[in-house]
Amino acid sequence: MGSIYTYNFPTRIRFGPGARHELAAELAALGIRRVLIVTDKDVAQLPWFPELKAALTDFGVATFSGVWGNPVVSQVNAGVDAWKASGADGIVAVGGGAPMDVAKAIALMAHHPGHLFDYEDGHCTRPIDQPIPPIVALPTTAGTGSEVGRSTVISDDDTHAKKIIFDPQLLPRVVLADPELLLGLPAKITAATGMDALTHLVEAFLAQGFNPLCDGIALEGIYLVAQHLQACVDFARRSQAGAVFDEATAAAHRVARGGMLNAAMMGAIAFQKGLGVTHSCAHALSTVFDTHHGLANGVMLPAAMRFNLPAAPGRFLRMAQVVQPGATDGQAFVDWIVALSASIGIPTSLGALGVTPDGLAALVAVAIADGCHPLNPRPVTETDFYAIYQDAF
Ligand SMILES: [Zn+2]
Repeated sequence: MGSIYTYNFPTRIRFGPGARHELAAELAALGIRRVLIVTDKDVAQLPWFPELKAALTDFGVATFSGVWGNPVVSQVNAGVDAWKASGADGIVAVGGGAPMDVAKAIALMAHHPGHLFDYEDGHCTRPIDQPIPPIVALPTTAGTGSEVGRSTVISDDDTHAKKIIFDPQLLPRVVLADPELLLGLPAKITAATGMDALTHLVEAFLAQGFNPLCDGIALEGIYLVAQHLQACVDFARRSQAGAVFDEATAAAHRVARGGMLNAAMMGAIAFQKGLGVTHSCAHALSTVFDTHHGLANGVMLPAAMRFNLPAAPGRFLRMAQVVQPGATDGQAFVDWIVALSASIGIPTSLGALGVTPDGLAALVAVAIADGCHPLNPRPVTETDFYAIYQDAF
């Protein structure tokens, strides 16, 4: 008998400019009366944030904005205190991957005892058997796609080790994907988060296993990145330089941001199939050097793909033909990644991230223990990890 596989694409997504204005209606439809808004310090300063809150006149509203950098357990604990003080019955997660992940962890710990890491995926010492409050997500970056994912990644405050907590109930009930929330995103964050989305799509498409639904989503997502990431970064650069856009340019900016918002969600949907060696390298960089996750992926992706190309030339050819119709070999896809990275300002070497060669052994030790590379299309040994990191220097 053959194997039986699972596919899941369950999230309700409302996509389009102005989707954020539906927040009150969506909360009411879910029966939520009081919300805790979970966000980060920067988002809480943005001009549309007070408007978002002001529109919730029929609801009790409390805000927790104690999220920054790579999210850690102490932020979750502070958020759980805020949850308990608020008397809320639902969570609104507003922000990039960090607030999304902290919001999910707060939702889990709202009614579960013990320490967050008691619920680590694969090492669970306590059952997830209590109610988890509903989450409505408003992404403000196009990167992790955590708004359509059912896991959260939180680091230990001291060791920086990343732990994954997984439960289907952590999936937000509704995503309000509003490109207007991304219009002010700086070029550097646009580029780094965009490379995270691209890495999810590429690694999902290359991952071992059988999931043609994810493969199809991954290829279309790669197409959207090819269409829109460069444009998003260009608009961000111009706007940071003080340009004021006419209506046609502003409309093109919204289209580009919307393209990347979808690409990011598609990446997170596709990587239920699996990820690969780039993410193992990136997780180690965040653990050892506290590197931004998207930036780490962006810097590692070319070296990781040079490593993978010989193991999956047919799959690389298909990705090449998505970004460059008429391409005749998979190398063209690797070349495209290198060119895109350079033109959106991703550093070309680990040295530019402050990573030093004497940290190599520590990086390899974390990367080899990471859970992503076992599904990489080419098996990765310790020697391979050294070679891939060295290639990225
Ligand atoms: Zn990622």
